Amino acid sequence: MECVKCDKKAIFLEPTFCKDHFIKYFEDKVLNTIKKYDLIDKDDKIVVAVSGGKDSLVLLYILNNNFENVEALCIDEGIQGYRDKTIKILKDFCSKHNVNLNIKKFQKEFGKPLDIILKENKIKPCTVCGVFRRKLMNKYSKEYDVIATGHNRDDISQAILMDLLKYNLSLLSRLSPVSGTKTRKGFTKKIKPLYFISEKEVMAYSIILGIRTGFEECPNVEDAYRLKVRDELNRYEIKHLGTKKNIVDWYIKNHIDIKEKIKNSELVLRSCNRCGEPTSREICNSCTMEQKILSKDTLKVL
Ligand code: AMP
Ligand code: ZN
Ligand code: ZN
Repeated sequence: MECVKCDKKAIFLEPTFCKDHFIKYFEDKVLNTIKKYDLIDKDDKIVVAVSGGKDSLVLLYILNNNFENVEALCIDEGIQGYRDKTIKILKDFCSKHNVNLNIKKFQKEFGKPLDIILKENKIKPCTVCGVFRRKLMNKYSKEYDVIATGHNRDDISQAILMDLLKYNLSLLSRLSPVSGTKTRKGFTKKIKPLYFISEKEVMAYSIILGIRTGFEECPNVEDAYRLKVRDELNRYEIKHLGTKKNIVDWYIKNHIDIKEKIKNSELVLRSCNRCGEPTSREICNSCTMEQKILSKDTLKVL
């Protein structure tokens, strides 16, 4: 099949583009999202949250090629056989592209790596991992103007559907291309420049440019509900092409209304008595969890 823009062979089908036109289409789409939703100012100090997976590496690659002040932040949860592999990939990538990489470890911040925390406590891995990771991402992004994550359209549509099914309007209201803006004290502006890019497109771009070819899944992944929604949505997408795009388009048209609706019920934020991070309670979620699961001798006042 031929590219719709030239007579070269197409390497991607929807849209049907040759290699060069696909690369241009992909990069334009990311840069247009940044422009349209005012994600980045020219002089902003940007940090990209990188896991070493294809999405965050592709994002780091594009932002680093288009903006001046770009660094990378990785949270090393301490998952042997998984995170150590992706960190090696990350280090090689950052040294090749001359990007400053900051790595923050659960071990150093909380006294123990995730592997040990999970061995010693009967808790859901994704819950503790997510809460601790978000805390460190928030804590170590304060010196930057924006923190960018690699969430793609597939991730977003899945999150929208999950929050709708659970009727969690508060979480639902935070799924726009930009959230946690500078207007909310204690939060760095969070941006998702790959918001309108499908997972397939990220995969193709990543392979074409040799950014990341392999794929590893976290060994702890066990959020059964999330996986069910993901699989159902994938099945639905195969039968009804465009489903994920429709969900995201619906959200974009309505998210301001959703935000307005929950505004009145939104919790007032204060500083956590223990760590100083923003929270609606006296002690934040992460500190409560730390106090519960980490033994006294390893507890560290952050
Ligand atoms: P996930 O929730 O695993 O799909 O990740 C979504 C995004 O969060 C990724 O694209 C990264 O930008 C960021 N992220 C996930 N894990 C980490 C990590 N360990 N360190 C830094 N950023 C991460
Ligand atoms: Zn072409
Ligand atoms: Zn706290």
